This record gives sequence, structure tokens and C-alpha cells, in this order.
Amino acid sequence: MLKTISGFDRIGEENAFAVLARATELAGQGRDIINLGIGQPDFRTPEHIVEAAIKALQDGHHGYTPATGIAPLREAVSADLLKRHGVETDPGNVLIVPGGKVTMFMAILMFGEPGAEILYPDPGFPIYRSMIEFTGARPVPVPIREENDFAFSAEETLSLITDKTRLLILNSPANPTGGVTPRSEIEALVKGLENHPDVAVMSDEIYSQMTYDGMEHVSLLGFESIRDRLILLDGWSKTYAMTGWRMGFAVWPDSLADKARKLAVNAWSCVNAPAQFAGLAALTGPQTAVRDMVAEFDARRRAIVDGLNALSGISCRTPLGAFYAFPNIKDTGWKAKELASALLEETGVATIGGPDFGILGEGYIRLSYANSTENIISALDRIGAFLDQ
Ligand code: PLP
Repeated sequence: MLKTISGFDRIGEENAFAVLARATELAGQGRDIINLGIGQPDFRTPEHIVEAAIKALQDGHHGYTPATGIAPLREAVSADLLKRHGVETDPGNVLIVPGGKVTMFMAILMFGEPGAEILYPDPGFPIYRSMIEFTGARPVPVPIREENDFAFSAEETLSLITDKTRLLILNSPANPTGGVTPRSEIEALVKGLENHPDVAVMSDEIYSQMTYDGMEHVSLLGFESIRDRLILLDGWSKTYAMTGWRMGFAVWPDSLADKARKLAVNAWSCVNAPAQFAGLAALTGPQTAVRDMVAEFDARRRAIVDGLNALSGISCRTPLGAFYAFPNIKDTGWKAKELASALLEETGVATIGGPDFGILGEGYIRLSYANSTENIISALDRIGAFLDQ
């Protein structure tokens, strides 16, 4: 019997991929499936970005790049952060990674060990908890509440910090709730964190460009008092419809940047070279496609929220960010995972049960509105007919 480290007895995964596999299997059997399960834009990557990758290949960019990423790309990330958040970042602190997810892997690996505590949002992206468990650290859920419009509460978050807390994970705009935490709450949190100088912060801002109804995205990068312990996670996947390219970027504080670089050297050497040129074209080229995609998500968001609220037993707050609706299904009498599974098997609509995102996810399901309005309306018709039968 091969004996791997005990972390593998605890590591989890993302059920969204299992739902995708089942939805694909049903579609293969000829079923008409509407996939509101997976969290990825349904748009193609904008053409000028694709062309930049093709050109990079034709120009002979076939070899390794520096482990941290090509210099023009790291400079473009700094310029992008200055433009969007008004914050100066040294390109030397930027690390190009194969997908935003890798930054959470690295940060949790850096701070997680038995005896340590790591705070993470619940409901939240399932990989946070999975990786914390992997390291043997104690996962401490930070409740994300519907009555708070799925924003995190500074007071509640700060109350969970102990002398064992090593890392705090934040996510706004949030998956799976679509919640966006307002500036006042973030300011209160940062103020409180000043009393806890040994707690590192990883801010997952992968949905930073997707907010609606005039809601501003407030980057944690903008707060000087925690800059020396802030890890910023962002990337191309959601903003530029590039989930399959596996491109992300992080900003590491001075004291951790070299450790992060060493992890990169040990694990992947460098990110796929032509993809880095595509990422460069994305940041430096026209941003009209991003604006168009966000406007389209906004229209679909209204359609899905109105449609969900018209269904018996379901109530849905209006999400202010990302591309997810997280309706409360408690009055339907269904358990969330059972409902998600029944909807897929009986109606062909793929959604994800809230408990796949944490303990507080019971009573909710996640629907991604990264699908056409026509499909969203048809999915809601099917869900309504199913619930009324
Ligand atoms: N962070 C959150 C909150 C996400 O929802 C996702 C993807 O679903 C990621 C990070 C990972 O992004 P990437 O595809 O760039 O690894």
C-alpha cells in the first residue's frame, strides 16, 4: 500500500466539475441540457487576444520565459492596477501564474500547517477550505449572510481572529453569492486588521471588473497599512473569457515575493509563453469587449433575478457582482443538493447546491447566468414547472 501524506485524506474538490461531467454525459445521451452550473463566461476570448497568441507562436516564442512572467506583461499588470485601482505596484512584486486558482494554492500552502488557523468565506469558493484542510491548518469559516446582501461583515470577521490566525481570505465580488462588500465595511476591516499585524490577507478579486448597479469594487490593494502582508489574486479568466488559457496574476508583498517565485520555479517554471502574449494584448488592447460582456451579464442578471422571484418557494436577492444568482430555496421544502440534482436529472437544468460552497450554503442553490437570456428563461420555465408539479 502506497502511503501518501495525510493531507490527501482531507483534500476536497470542486463539485461544479462533477456537475459539468454529469451534464455532459446527459447531453451525450441526447438530453436537452441547459448548463447554469459552471462558472465561466459563455463568450469566446476576444479576437485580438487570440491573434496575439497566434502571432507569438509564429514569432517563435516557444521557450521558457522568466519564472515570474515576461517583463512587459508584469509591467502591463502594474499599469492595469494603477488605472483600475489608482495604486502603484512594482512589477517585481507581480507573479504571472497558470490561473488565478494557483495563487490561493500558494498562499494557503505558505501559511497552513497544523496548529495554524485560516479564515475563509462560507459560503465561498470550495478550494479555499479544501486546501486549508490539505495543509492540516484549522479552517475557520467567516459567515457570509443573505441578510447582509452577502457582503462580509468586518466586525464578525475580526471577531474570529485569534493568536493562531495566520491568513485571512477575502472574496469580493464573491462566488457563489454575487455579493459585493461595500467600501465602508472594507475600511472597517482594514482598520481592525491594523491590530493584528501578523495576519496575512489574501484578497481574491478575480471578479473585480464585474459589478453592477453602480456598485464600486474596492481593491484591498488600495490600503497602505496592510500592503506589506496583502496577497492580491486576480487574472484573465473571467474578465476576458479566458478560463481555458490558464492565466492569472498575483501581487505579492516584498517579504513573500521571493518565496512565491521559488514555488513557481519548483512547480511550473513559467506560464505558457504564447498565453502570456495573449494576456499582454488583453491588458493593453481595447477594453470594449469587457464592457460589452459586463453589460450583457447585467441584462441577464435582471432576467434571472426577476424570473427566480416569480417561482413559488424561491426568493433571490439582486447580486451586485460576478455572474451568479444565489436564491434562497428554503420554502420549497427541498434540501439544496437534492434539488440541484433533481433539477438536472428531471429537467435538464444544471445548477449547484449551496452546500458545495460551505456549511451556510444549505437552503440555497447557485445559478450561473453566464448563459444566453433565451436559455435562462427556458431554464426558469423548466424549474417553475418542476416545483409546481
Ligand atoms: N477565485 C474564485 C472566487 C473563482 O470563482 C474562481 C473560478 O471559478 C477562481 C478564483 C479561479 O480562477 P482561474 O480560472 O483563473 O483559476
